[in-house]
Amino acid sequence: MQIHFHGAARTVTGSMHLLEVNGSKLLLDCGLYQGKRKLAFERNRSLPFKPSEVHNVVLSHAHIDHSGNLPQLTRNGFRGRIVCTPATRDLCEWMLRDSAHIQERDVEHVNAKRLRKGQAPFEPLYLEDDVERCLEQFEGIPYGHEVRVAAGVALRFEDAGHMLGSAVTHLELDEAGRRLKLVFTGDVGRPRAPIIRDPAPPREADVLLSESTYGDRLHAADVDVKARLREVVAATRARGGKVLIPAFSVGRTQNVVYHLHQLFLERALPPLPIFVDSPLSANATDVFRAHPECYDAETLKFLETGKDPFGFHRLTYIREAEASKALNDLRIPAVIIAASGMMESGRVLHHLKRIAPDPRSTILIVGYMAEHTLGRRVAEGAEAIKLFGEEYPLRAQICEISGLSGHADRDELTRFFGRLKAPPARTFLVHGEESQSLKLAEHLRARGFPRVDVPCPGERFAL
Ligand SMILES: [Zn+2]
Repeated sequence: MQIHFHGAARTVTGSMHLLEVNGSKLLLDCGLYQGKRKLAFERNRSLPFKPSEVHNVVLSHAHIDHSGNLPQLTRNGFRGRIVCTPATRDLCEWMLRDSAHIQERDVEHVNAKRLRKGQAPFEPLYLEDDVERCLEQFEGIPYGHEVRVAAGVALRFEDAGHMLGSAVTHLELDEAGRRLKLVFTGDVGRPRAPIIRDPAPPREADVLLSESTYGDRLHAADVDVKARLREVVAATRARGGKVLIPAFSVGRTQNVVYHLHQLFLERALPPLPIFVDSPLSANATDVFRAHPECYDAETLKFLETGKDPFGFHRLTYIREAEASKALNDLRIPAVIIAASGMMESGRVLHHLKRIAPDPRSTILIVGYMAEHTLGRRVAEGAEAIKLFGEEYPLRAQICEISGLSGHADRDELTRFFGRLKAPPARTFLVHGEESQSLKLAEHLRARGFPRVDVPCPGERFAL
């Protein structure tokens, strides 16, 4: 038995780990690396193993940094199953199609430059056809069910509490009579997040493979997300500005909408229009509506009132590009939620052109901003930002609400592992910037975890 770390090793994106048991190769996640365009393109197109040799894929959740390279895997010969929860499967349908469009547009942009320089054009990472073929390989396994995914490998999903459909994967490995329990956390959410159930802590693990995004950080204690949201929206409205919330289309957008809905129901906000400007968000919200089996008790109870948790009369989902452009002419205060979450692409960039230079407006950060992203520059209060090759002053107010984070912080992770009957013999920390993962490793060692490794990209370990 061995594990080979190919992505999200000493970084936060590109989740991809190859497990070998009884000669079968099982890929845990197959995500896109996100970062500087050229580096990302090169990393994503060179898979460090033969896709045709991968037996099956286990997918922890639908976020693109975990699922986004699956169509390329199919394009290059992978013919196995992609095992995930039913909600993850349905979300991937929209997210991977959207990703194919982004890949095609990105390459057009790069190729226009290459052609001017007389260079040969690049091909996109994958096309919509690849996505459709890849989607046929998906198989939804409900939480709590046990299935065999390779010779000597049984799998069960439990709640990860990170986004709709997100799972902690429990694998029982048996190679020549040697048995190991391996727990792969995927991304772990925070307790008491809206809509979905809390993360279910594992009780037994010989090998723990965990994320470490907030390995050395704590979320501000008891941030009252709703109160903060109310404060920011009300203050911006009073100034006559707009609130722009960059948010990933799936997960964060629905959480923000849920909180805004509650505020309107409580009449805690003055009337103002709210726009979710993303076709993907609109489609993903339909998937949220179709999967009440993932909801927590509070959301189920809310459903009994007959109201829709994801829609209310002040809220408009915008699919058409024309309607999105029309928002530019809106002269009244409004809340605009648009993707992408780290402001790397998507409609949020068009809104930034108007909103960044406007001191009455607010850019409200509700998620993690990775290194080298525009979102990180904005969050750090850059004086100006570059959009579509032009410089814009950043005069809007920058506010942040940390309580909406989709990731457990250091202490929440430690408590999550604290339910294990005994510390795992081996722990591997992935999905974190190096400093975060290394600090969490120290922290866990000090709490009796005998061997904690922070693998480097390409590193391989015998289990
Ligand atoms: Zn995630």
